[in-house]
This record gives sequence, C-alpha cells and structure tokens, in this order.
Amino acid sequence: EEDSDLLGSLAISLNRMAISLEYSFNEIKALMAKKDDFIGIAAHELKTPLTSIKAYLQFIGRAKLENNDANKIYPFITKANNQVNRLTEIIKDLLDVARINENQLGLKLDNFSMRMAVLEASEEIFNSIKTHQLFLEGDPDIVVQADKFRIEQVLINLISNAIKYSPNSDRIIVDIKPEQDLVKVSVTDFGIGIPKDNLQYIFQRYFRVEVTSQNYSGMGLGLYISKGIIKRHGGDMGVNSREGEGSTFWFTLPLKHPGA
Ligand code: ADP
Repeated sequence: EEDSDLLGSLAISLNRMAISLEYSFNEIKALMAKKDDFIGIAAHELKTPLTSIKAYLQFIGRAKLENNDANKIYPFITKANNQVNRLTEIIKDLLDVARINENQLGLKLDNFSMRMAVLEASEEIFNSIKTHQLFLEGDPDIVVQADKFRIEQVLINLISNAIKYSPNSDRIIVDIKPEQDLVKVSVTDFGIGIPKDNLQYIFQRYFRVEVTSQNYSGMGLGLYISKGIIKRHGGDMGVNSREGEGSTFWFTLPLKHPGA
C-alpha cells in the first residue's frame, strides 16, 4: 500500500544515488591523479547527497511499517546505512587530505590526558572488534594540550591499522612516554610488518604496500592524514618495522601547543 510505495520509491532513488555516487567516485579517482585541489571540492559535492540519503534512511528506519514486505526490507536499509557511513568516512578522509595539502587544518586546543584519548579511541574500535586486546603501558596520565578529536583520529588510525595488519596475533601495545617537553606515543603490533624498501614511502598519500594491498581494503590515506595532524601540532611521526614480525608506529606531541 502506501508504505510499500514509499519503500519502492526509496529503492529507486537509492539506486539512482548509488549509480551517481559510483560515477562520482570513479571521477574522483581519476582526478586525484591530476589535481589535489579538486578533491576538496568534489568531496563537498559528494557529501551533500549523502546527507540526504542518510536523513531519508533515518526517516524510514523510524517509521512503523506493518506489512511483511517492509520487514524484509529492513536488513537492506541497515546495509545501505552502513555503506553510507563508510562512504562518509572516505569523504571525511578526502576532505582531510585537502585540508592538510592546503595547510588549512584548524585545531581546537584542549587539555586532556593521553589515557582519556586512548580510552575514547579504543571504545570506538573495540565496540565491533573482539579479536585483539589493547595493553596501555608507560605514563598514560600525562596531560597534553592538543586537539583531542584529531589526536583520537590519529590513535584510531594507528590502532585500527595495528589490528588490520596483524591477523595472526591478538596483542596491541600502546606505550606513553614523557620526554622533556613532549610525549612519545607508540603503537606496537606483532603482525605482518612492512618490507624494508617500502618504509620510506609509507607516509606518502595513496601509498600502500603492494603485497598486502590485495588482501586488505584501504585507500592509503590514513597514515598521510595522521602524520599531517601530528605535524600540525608541532610533533613528528615515524615507524620501526620488520617484515613478518610486526610494526611500531610512534608519534611525538609537544605538551604545550607551540602556537598557544
Ligand atoms: P590503508 O591502511 O587504508 O591502506 P594507511 O595510510 O593507513 O592506508 O597505510 C598505508 C599502508 O601502510 C597500508 O596499505 C599498509 O600496506 C601499510 N601499513 C600501515 N600500517 C601497517 C601496520 N601496522 N602493519 C603493516 N603494514 C602497515
């Protein structure tokens, strides 16, 4: 009846949007190679329809549909919603790349302990992942002045990578060490590691280790963005890794932000 009409037209418009999104993404991929400035603009263009898809799905999700057809459609709505979230994450990454390239990453400074940042970052990750366990070591109660949201984004990137690239190990160590006027944070995994000749390229945008890239999804933006965020704070980022043994990604953060 009325509800199935609504769902039918939802399906049609979702399909149309999916096609145009796919088209836009292919276009973005081609443009990425040519002009970075455009990525920011294109990402904004993509974000607008996504926001409306999401609002539409939320509306349908809240509606009380009573016929059976409607119930069958719910799992698809959930799946579509998950894809929308994934696309949104990709677009956020693309926007961050544009911001970093244009030197326009704004910071909202705050005082917080590294323990708080690691806890909030892991809450988000370990909600859905039960294969790995995180061990927090060192002096996590040290307080830094930084953009908490951005530092958590870096931690989420590094911890997610540590999990993703260590399928045969279950242990991740986050170590917090104060060093004079800065703090050094290390994320260690016991996973596949990185081949020696690739180490120098690992923080370049779009770079992915060729042997691993076929087995794991990703765009090669996480480390580039993470290092950009840390550099913007006046810190640095690096890696120690051995192929087949594991990796330690580290970053430093000044305890007081240089501009503050
Ligand atoms: P993504 O993981 O989305 O490809 P990143 O920028 O986060 O992008 O990482 C770039 C590449 O570096 C990855 O594709 C992977 O080859 C390698 N890499 C990153 N973190 C690790 C890790 N902890 N262990 C092994 N390889 C890693």
